[in-house]
Amino acid sequence: MRVLIAASEAVPFAKTGGLADVTGTLLKVFNGTAGVDAALMLPLYKGIKERFKLAETGIRLVIPVGNARHEGRVWKHDSAYFIECAEFFDRPELYGTKDSDYPDNPERFAFFCKAALEACMALDLKPDVVHCNDWQTALMPAYIKSVYSNDFFRKTASVLTIHNLGYQGIFDPTSFSLTGLGSEWFSAEGAEFYGKVNFLKAGLVSADIITTVSHTYSGEILTPEYGFGLDGVLRKRSSDIFSVLNGIDIKEWDPETDKYIPANYSRSGLNGKALCREALFKDCGLSVGESDNPVISFVGRLSEQKGIDIILETLDDILSAGALLVVLGKGDERYQSGLARVAERHKGRVFVRIGYDDALSHRIYAGSDIFLMPSRYEPCGLGQLIAMRYGTIPVARKTGGLADTISDYQSSDGSGTGFLFEDYNASSLMSRLRHAISVYADKERWKGLVMNALGCDFSWERSAARYAELYKAAFDKKEIN
Ligand code: ADP
Repeated sequence: MRVLIAASEAVPFAKTGGLADVTGTLLKVFNGTAGVDAALMLPLYKGIKERFKLAETGIRLVIPVGNARHEGRVWKHDSAYFIECAEFFDRPELYGTKDSDYPDNPERFAFFCKAALEACMALDLKPDVVHCNDWQTALMPAYIKSVYSNDFFRKTASVLTIHNLGYQGIFDPTSFSLTGLGSEWFSAEGAEFYGKVNFLKAGLVSADIITTVSHTYSGEILTPEYGFGLDGVLRKRSSDIFSVLNGIDIKEWDPETDKYIPANYSRSGLNGKALCREALFKDCGLSVGESDNPVISFVGRLSEQKGIDIILETLDDILSAGALLVVLGKGDERYQSGLARVAERHKGRVFVRIGYDDALSHRIYAGSDIFLMPSRYEPCGLGQLIAMRYGTIPVARKTGGLADTISDYQSSDGSGTGFLFEDYNASSLMSRLRHAISVYADKERWKGLVMNALGCDFSWERSAARYAELYKAAFDKKEIN
């Protein structure tokens, strides 16, 4: 089966969040196993050009976007292809600045979706399945059903994965002409969404198969509470929606071999974790006098989704319960400044680093005791998986992938890998956190929890095999239709 994974980010090339882990790791896993021959298509961002040695394919494309025509060149690195278009992608960020999205995002990703299909034709890379991811590549299934339903893509099926329904690529109706889709697509059955154009919706109505990244989330998105206005569209397609739980790259995230952390450890010896903890105290300027107290961490995007507001609301309670807080994140200005102020006020007990820092994230996952994920919603979440892999116990809201991957601690028999709370508010979070802090005080019981977490298997193999099955199902479905 030949599969083209089309995405706006993938590790190790470009990453702002979990999407990149999924697409990059999937490519790696497929190309190490039989059955799926995968290639990746990405925009050539500035950062990729600077850090990777790419080979020219010699292919040049001219892509119409609205009334303009844009030139693109195709580059290659192993099985990854990159579409170069300096005016769209030679920028410091992927999607926008901290204040706003790039205003030409509809042009940028309409261009990318068309260019990716044109590149396949020019490379004679005929995929059995195009696996698209989120709104940035969601026009591709619509193109394959319409303007590109030519001979070349006649048998190509499409799979669209929703990594986060909160981001749909909704633009002014004037942007519709940029897509190049026929006017019949600007309708309730097409890309139209409350008078605007919605790139994700174009994909949801046309992909052969839709997937999401956890079982719980695949049910949640069918409800108005989590559907972001698309629950009705999704309910109509519910028989084509499947879920494949994300994994993590267990080689990249391995406390036994991790080069970013000051000492290694595993289930057979936890001394290294204590050393990582000591080093984190130094890195973050936490006061040594507090070293008996649990270190609570958060690593992630500082967005409303992630529950930063309830973290800020519980902060005084967290500190009076004797815990310390370490935060690494980047995102909305109001959260960045709110957190920075708190860190300034509580030096030695709260540390905040605003920015994206892969190395520091490893040190935090390894050196902290409790990992916070009080998300409003969480399609799958990788932070909690990485934390458990490092024996750091998640305290998380029981939603989406958090509910599917963390088993709630049971005081009766010490089973479980974390602490879950139901309601999205500061007092529910704090009450579960208090429980975690009280268990932390009992060294034996805590060690049992750490061992449970370290024993979890979040490797990609099972998920990749499931994607391979769904590619086959999409391909068969296309054949029949
Ligand atoms: P999302 O995809 O919603 O952002 P996930 O939990 O699925 O959230 O994935 C987040 C990934 O990005 C994790 O691998 C996490 O470690 C990483 N990450 C997020 N923010 C940062 C940051 N500021 N510095 C380093 N890594 C980060």
